[in-house]
Order: sequence, then structure tokens, then C-alpha cells
Amino acid sequence: MHSDESLACKPLELLEILRGYPFLEKFDLALFYEKDGVVTRLGTVSPLCGVLARNLVCIEKCELSYERAVKLALSKQKPMVFSCRAGLMNFAVPYQVADGFRYCFVGGGVRNPTLDLFLMEKLAKSDRIDGFALLEELERLPAAASQEVKDAAKEVSRLLGGLGDESIQARLLEKSVEMFRTVRGILSHMESISNPEDLMGFLSETLGILFDIPRVAIGFKSGLGNDVPLRGLIGMVKNLGTCTEMQLSALFPLGDTGPVLVPEKQMGEHFPAVVAERALCLPIASEDQLLGLLAIFDDELKYRDTLLVGMITDRVAAKLLQFRAEESHRLEATLAGKFVSVLSTISLAENRRDLYLSILETAADLLQASSGSLMLIDENGKNLRIESVLGMSLQLARSMSARVGRGIAGKVAESGEPLLVKDIEQDARVRIPNRSRFKTKSFISIPLRVKGSVIGVLNLSDKRNGATFSEADLEHLTTVARHACVVLERTEFSEKAAQLEEITLADPLTGLFNRRFLEQRLDEELNRCGRQQQSVTVLLVDLDNFKVYNELCGHAAGDVVLKKTARLLKSSARQMDIVTRFGGERFCIILPGTSKQESFCVAERFRREVERAGFTHEENLPLGRLTVSIGIATAPSNGNDFHSLMGSADVALHRAKLSGRNRVVHFDFPANANPAASAPVFRSLGEPKARV
Ligand code: GH3
Ligand code: MG
Repeated sequence: MHSDESLACKPLELLEILRGYPFLEKFDLALFYEKDGVVTRLGTVSPLCGVLARNLVCIEKCELSYERAVKLALSKQKPMVFSCRAGLMNFAVPYQVADGFRYCFVGGGVRNPTLDLFLMEKLAKSDRIDGFALLEELERLPAAASQEVKDAAKEVSRLLGGLGDESIQARLLEKSVEMFRTVRGILSHMESISNPEDLMGFLSETLGILFDIPRVAIGFKSGLGNDVPLRGLIGMVKNLGTCTEMQLSALFPLGDTGPVLVPEKQMGEHFPAVVAERALCLPIASEDQLLGLLAIFDDELKYRDTLLVGMITDRVAAKLLQFRAEESHRLEATLAGKFVSVLSTISLAENRRDLYLSILETAADLLQASSGSLMLIDENGKNLRIESVLGMSLQLARSMSARVGRGIAGKVAESGEPLLVKDIEQDARVRIPNRSRFKTKSFISIPLRVKGSVIGVLNLSDKRNGATFSEADLEHLTTVARHACVVLERTEFSEKAAQLEEITLADPLTGLFNRRFLEQRLDEELNRCGRQQQSVTVLLVDLDNFKVYNELCGHAAGDVVLKKTARLLKSSARQMDIVTRFGGERFCIILPGTSKQESFCVAERFRREVERAGFTHEENLPLGRLTVSIGIATAPSNGNDFHSLMGSADVALHRAKLSGRNRVVHFDFPANANPAASAPVFRSLGEPKARV
């Protein structure tokens, strides 16, 4: 399947170089090759004199005159000049390279300065067309004396003959470098794209404009199901069916990240919805992960351009991975948010039954599951009893009790291991026919543990969009279950709301997550980023001179400031950032996947927001306004567990305080060396500020 035929097309590149020479400006240029006596034209197939083609004077016959001339020039191995049927002048210059093909450059589409009216008349009669219209068309073509055509042929031959010639090599290089620069510029622009939709728009523009590719399709895994939806990007309908993960991997066998040419006889197998003779496929892959493909139909992409498009697809892959990581951060942030709200609902819940239902509903909502159940092991430890259900009647569900160790939920209860099944009929661990009440063949079952022992099982099935549950779903569900089990553990002793409050993860004054939540989340975030080799940054934000403020304005006013600061921090945070109250007048913000450099700008934004906001009586503070100092630390280099990382952030915060407050300091930099150094506060003291 692999072929270099369409890739090693240096002569096509030469054709483009020739087009850049001023002495060939008038001419339309084309490239032919001959193999085993058959002459074929590369690239487009419109006649050289495109204008006449519209009049259908010679479209069927002019190819013949080119063919004859190409054969003649190749057999004589020297440039020649010939006129086509309509009397237009052309040249053919042979060009031989070592790959077995014999190439020939043809120039044409120019007319003699004096038009041969007799010939016109004859042509008009024989083809029964409007002679005047034909004359008009011909007059529009550029005129060239026959000597000029001969000279052009000779010059082309000289240029091609002296391929070692520095001028042509230099032009080739110049063109490549120019193209490379353009692509590099484009790639840097890609950095600012923030969603897959814009990325597709950008890609289609780039490929269309820069490489003039007429028909392109793209497919990438959305990360949900296994199939890769194929969509038209340029010159094709949007929906081109799907390609399975297996087909995709077969196209690019392990470790092979080069372009692949799909020949005509395999087109039906790979692209049943596309009518084309061949497809050049480029993988969209990052390191060892194959994410999708880009397919270019019926086009001869130059070798250099294939490499450049490859550079673009590599960047697209990196971008897609970035989107995925952001999406999972977003999901987790939503998850955490949802969970806190569930916990407050739970604290209002009057009994355990509501609590179980809340847990099931949150989990189902998060994973977009349309049915599910929560089962508990009974007192003798032998049976599983349905406690709550979704998507079916409780009566019906209750009639189906299960034994621990038997059936799917029973085995999960016994082993304590979660089970993610993508296809119930294929998965070797279960392999049973799908029951008709389930719409999809995929489900998740996870154990619920309290104080180390399994107390029940949470089952979810029928993902709403018909997709398969993924590993990411399992990970999210496990997080929910862990939090849920903490609640269950505590409520086991008492069902009183007051005690639930103790274990809630929200801070009652500001509504932000509390320190307890921060510890759990940061540990999770550190583990995940360790696995994905990303950095995590924490910002420790502390109000400046808050003791003075409390003394001047009273504790109640101090509380108002804390609430307002919390609101400001929350609203200036990005969606994926996690804002928590660390305790007292300290806040801690987790910035997942954020590097040291980026964190300065983020922290600066928080600092500025507080500085700009107005607070009652702040003018009496030592700095003239209410401000914060921020200490930053980035994992893994400044610490890779909660205590060491927070310790580093605390050191940085201390340095910020020592060097005057109202500033941002990173653990790795001296206080006065921040790239985003804080503005001295007294410079803006005179400016009016909005009041609280
Ligand atoms: P620095 O600029 O060095 O951070 O000085 P500071 O005065 O902010 O720091 P210090 O640790 O000396 O004092 C912190 C004050 O924050 C003391 C305490 O009364 C106040 N505080 C802590 N928690 C609360 C709260 O929940 N409400 C109110 N109103 N004040 C609080
Ligand atoms: Mg303080």
C-alpha cells in the first residue's frame, strides 16, 4: 500500500519553479511523463489554452497533439516547438530523471502575433462553431513571435539541463524556506485556537489556501466511542461516515507515522462513502497515540508539501490532546462543583434513602447514563438488594435481587474491583447476550466501600448519546464514589445534618471549597499530572495587613471582605482552576496543567483584580488600599506532594510579604525578578476607585 509515487514528485516542483521565471509568464505550463509508450499528464487535465476549451474547439483532439510532441521530444531528447490544431504555439522540453519515468515540460497557450484567418475559418466550419466568438477568444491569448517560443524552449532546456545549476537550486531552496516560514508562522497562530471546531476551520483554510488542495477529509477520535467520524473539510460533504478504530490502526501499523497512499482498489474498503481514485492519508498522531487521520483525495501533493502538511497534522494532534486534557480538567471541576452541591443537598437530606438516590443521580448525570442502580449488601453479607434505581421502576428492579459472587454486580461486590465493559457480548469477562431493556452494550459497575469493606455496588448503563463508557468515565465515577463513601462512612454513625456539616467540602463563609477538599484534589491532581507529565501550579493568596483591617473596621466588615475577595478570585479564575479557602485570610488556587511561566500571568490577574476592586475604609490601611500577596510553587520541581508543594508556596508568599506586599513571587525566582513584576502600589494611589 505504501508508495512513493505521489510523493517523490520533484519534477512537479520544478514546474512550479519554472512558473516563477518572468520569461515564461505568458505561457501555460504542464508536465507530462511517458512510461512504456503511454503519455500521461500530471496534475490537472484542462488544456493549456483554457479559454478555447470552453468553446470545445479542440478539447478532445489537442491532447493528441501534445502527446505526439511529447513523444517526439523524448525520442529526440531535445527541445522542440510545435503548433496545435488551433494554430497556437507550444514547446516541449524533455527532462530525464533516474526513476524510470521520462518527463517532458510543455509550454503553450500563446498565439502568433498575426492570426491565421484561413485556419480559423476552417476550424469554425469543421467544428460548427461561431467563428467570430472563436476569433475573440484567440485575440485574448498572449501573443508571442515564433522566435520567442523557440528561445523559451531553449532556456527551459538550459535551466533543466543545468540542474546542478546554482540558480535553480537556490530558487528551489528559497521557495522551500519561504513555505516553511509561512507554515511555521501558521503553526504559531494555532497556539491561540481554543476549541476543535475553530481548529477545523483553521485547518481547512490553511490547506485550501496554502497547498491548494481541492478535496480533504478529516477524522479524529472524540475520546468517547471507538469509531472515528470522517468529515469533509474541503470540497466534500460534511458527513462521510465512520472509520473504525481497527481500520485506522490497519492504515497506520504500529510505529508507522508516515503518509500512506490508498490505491483505487482499496478505496471502497477504507472510504466507502467517497468517490475518488486514490487517497493520500496522513496520520494525526502524537508520540505513540494515533488520534485520527487526514485524507487528501485525488491530488498529487509534492514531497515537500507532504512534509509540511505532516508538520501541521503533528501540531493538530498536540492541540487535540491539549483540548482533551482541558476537557477532562473542566469535567473534573464540574464534577467537584456538582459534588459540593450534592453534599449540601445531602446535609438537608432527611434519611439515607435520599442520600443513596442523590449519589446515584449525580453519578448518572455526570456520566450521561440514562439508567442505573445502587445495590447494597444485606446484613448477612450474601445478597445484594436494590436500594435506588434510575430508568426503570423500583418495583421491577426490587424483584431482581442478586447474590454476592454471582452475576455482574455480585462479582464486583465480591472482588471489590470496578468493571468497565465496552461490549457485553464480546468482553471475555462477561460475554452474555445483551438484554433487550438495555439500549447499548456498554456499562460500568463499581464497588462502594465504607471503612475498607464493600457495602454495595453502583451500576450505570445506557450512555445517552449511545456511546461506549470510557476509561475517563470510570476514573470520574471512581472519584464520585470515593467522596460518596466518605459521606456514607460518616453518616453511618449518625444521620443528623449537623454532623454532615463537619464533613462537607465547602467553606460556610465564602462558599468556596475548603482545605479538606483542597488536600484531596491537589493529591489527585499531582498524581494525574505525574502520569501525564504535566505541571501543576498552586497559588497561595494572602490578604495584606488584614489584622489591621479587622481592628479598624471590625470582624463583620472583615468577613464581608473575605466574601468579596472569594467572589473576585472565583470570577477571574479560568474554568479549570480550582479556588479554595485555605483558612483564615488565605486562599489557595490550583492551576492544573499550568507551567511556571504561565502561572505568573494568571497570578498577576488575581492580584490586579483585588487591587482594583474597592473595599470600604481600605484607605486607612498601610498601603492605602486592600491588596493581596501571592506565593507560587509548581510541581513537580517545587514539591510533588501536598505538604512539600504548599511549603514552597508559603516560602514564596513570605518573600512577597518581606519585599513590600501586593506582589507575586514564584518559589524559583527572587522576589524582584518576576517576569510579571507587580506595579508599585503607591504609583496609583491617587486614582479614584469604585466603592464596595
Ligand atoms: P500580612 O500582610 O503579613 O499577611 O498581615 P496580616 O495582618 O494579614 O496577617 P496576620 O496573620 O497577622 O493576621 C491575619 C488576620 O486575619 C488575623 C485574623 O483576625 C484575621 N482573620 C482570619 N480569619 C478571619 C475570618 O474568618 N474573618 C475575619 N473577619 N478575620 C479573619
Ligand atoms: Mg495576611
